[in-house]
Formats: sequence, C-alpha cells, structure tokens
Amino acid sequence: MKIVLLPGDGIGPEVTAVAQRVLERVGEVFGRTFEFESCPIGGNAIDDFGDPLPEQTLTACRSADAILLGAVGGPKWDDPNAKTRPEAGLLRIRKELGLFANLRPIQTFDFLVDSSPLRREIVAGTDIMFVRELTGGIYFGESGLTKHDDGSETAWSTMTYSTHEIERVVRVAADAARGRRKKLTMVDKANVLEASRLWRRVTARLMKEEYPDIEYDVVLVDAMAMHLISRPTAFDVVVTENLFGDILTDEGSMLPGSMGMLPSASIGSDGPGLFEPIHGSAPDIAGKGIANPLATILAAAMMLKYSLKLNEEAAAIQKAVDDVLAQGHRTGDLARSGEKALGTKEMGDLVVAAISK
Ligand code: NAD
Repeated sequence: MKIVLLPGDGIGPEVTAVAQRVLERVGEVFGRTFEFESCPIGGNAIDDFGDPLPEQTLTACRSADAILLGAVGGPKWDDPNAKTRPEAGLLRIRKELGLFANLRPIQTFDFLVDSSPLRREIVAGTDIMFVRELTGGIYFGESGLTKHDDGSETAWSTMTYSTHEIERVVRVAADAARGRRKKLTMVDKANVLEASRLWRRVTARLMKEEYPDIEYDVVLVDAMAMHLISRPTAFDVVVTENLFGDILTDEGSMLPGSMGMLPSASIGSDGPGLFEPIHGSAPDIAGKGIANPLATILAAAMMLKYSLKLNEEAAAIQKAVDDVLAQGHRTGDLARSGEKALGTKEMGDLVVAAISK
C-alpha cells in the first residue's frame, strides 16, 4: 500500500515522522507492507519550486492509496502581496483529487474534560462525527463585484448545490452512522435558503430509500450553534454543507479542550483520501521537538480505516493512544502544572511500543 507523506511546514515534518513510525510498527505487527513517499507541499514547496503544490507532488498523490499531511504555512510566507500562499496548495489538492467530504471526529477524552471551556457535566461523553461538504456551496459558487458610479460597491457570492453533490456526501455520512450509533442529523437553513431546501428534500428521500435503519433528523444551523455547546452529547453523525460545516467544526473543535488531539479526513468517491491533524504548523514551537503528535497519529488511524479499509489496524492505533494517555503520559500542551511534559519523539516512542494485536 502506497502512502504519500506531505510533511509541509513548521511542526508538520516533526509530527508526520512520528506517525510514519507508528504506521511502520503497525505494518510489522499486522504483517502489512506500507511504502512511503515524501513530497513537498506548502511554504517549503514555494521556496524550492515556486509552487505550493508542485506537479510531482500531485502526480505522486494521484497514484497513492492514501495521503498523510502534516500542516502548511508560517510567517515566512504570510506576505499578503505574495504571488501565492502555502494554503493554496491545500485547496488545490482537495479540488484536484475530488475530496468532497471532510470528516472530523469531535471526541472528548476524560483526562482533558476539565480543560474544555464547557462544564464537565455538559461536555463529558461527547462523540460526534462531523461530515462537511467540501467542494461545493458558497465557497465555489459564482461570485462578483460591481463598482457603481457613486463609488459604492456591490458584492455577491452564491450558494449552489446539485442533487448529486448532496447525495454523495450524505451517503458518506449515513455510512459512517451505520458503523456508529446509527443517528444522523442534517444541518441546514431551509427556512431561508433555496439551496438548503434542496438539501432537505434530497436527504429525506435518500435516507428513506437507502438508510431506513438510521434515525434521521434535521436542525437549523442557528439552533445547531446553540445545541453544540448546550447538549453536545445528543449528536452522533452530523452532515452539513460547506460554509455551515466550516463554522460548526471550528466551534466543535473547542469542546475537547485541546486541538492537539483532533484528526480530520477528506475523502472522495474513489482515489486516495487525505488525512491530517486539524491544527496548523505551530511556528511558535516548530523545531523545538515539543509538538503533540497524537492528532497526526490519530489521522493515520483514520487513514487506515477510511482509505485502506484496515479496521483492526486502525483500532490498534486508537487503543495504543488511549493506553498511553491512560497511563498519564502528556505532551506540553496537555500537561497540567506539575505534570511531566514529554517531547514529540518520546510520546511517539510510547505509542509505537503500545501497538499490539
Ligand atoms: P496553529 O494550529 O498552528 O497553532 C495554534 C496554537 O496551538 C499555537 O500556540 C501552537 O503552538 C499550538 N499548537 C498547534 N498544534 C500543536 C501541537 N500539535 N502540539 C502542541 N501545540 C500545538 O494555528 P495558527 O498559529 O493560527 O497558524 C499557524 C500557521 O498554520 C499559519 O500559517 C496558518 O495559516 C497555518 N494553518 C495551517 C493549517 C493546515 O495546514 N491545515 C491549519 C490551520 C492553520
């Protein structure tokens, strides 16, 4: 199985190196052969090739079984007048590979619950899988700007969705619900938006015809923003369009108490999926060897499950991470005062050692 590694910038290379070692250990324990190829993306690719997504990276990704990304960006490439930016590489790879569904698990860990901005009795036990539509909607619809004679301007952006775009992402979400607690919530703004009314019709029909075993409900996006912080444990799988998903997943990512634990997956209908931590390149700690590698390790577990269909191997990684945390091991971002803070490599070594069948 060919895995393309896109380490990227800042702490990206540090955390992907650790995730690679975990995958190699999984390979040894379960008798699997993973072949790795590392390719440039982001700021370093701009420096070396003048392009945040060089052609050779895209070609390697297209022929891969799955892709594991660290993070891109940093102050070096922040000039607003620059010709291109590291993030452009990310947007392009998602588009080129047709990655239309973004999966973001939001799960609380008991030892972290007291770091959550919400009270323990509200947030403990939260386990949500967000599925966000990633290649359609208002971010990709027609937009424009008209300048008027009086100097004022009018700008517009349009939210566009087709039946096909809705069906394919709802299927990803409903399939995920089947492997979980069999509940799906669709979030929209059908009281105002025509595009949301299409989402509602298409989803209701699809759920009735193809997923009668899944409990299905709809929630308006404004209400969802409230429910997410007042009763987050009420949700299993949540599916929504691009803009709403962008905002709600960031709101959700605050619930567990640290970003250093959260992975994300972007998948298409066929071809490789792209797996990454949700955090950025953390330039403030890059090169210090103290970044928390667990989000990237958990992204590698998602990669095994969703792209390579290796469920047992994915569960082994999840269990190794749970065990290491249960033994009280912490990186600096997780450690409370007085607790010993492990470095990136030390944490990785413990997870590698905890992998078993
Ligand atoms: P960030 O996620 O990089 O960092 C926010 C804070 O969290 C920092 O204090 C950082 O040290 C800490 N942090 C993040 N990941 C950590 C980890 N694994 N272990 C320990 N601490 C961690 O967000 P930012 O500072 O807003 O952005 C920095 C750069 O990353 C920017 O250039 C931004 O554009 C880019 N970015 C990239 C991605 C991506 O590649 N998908 C996502 C978000 C931001």
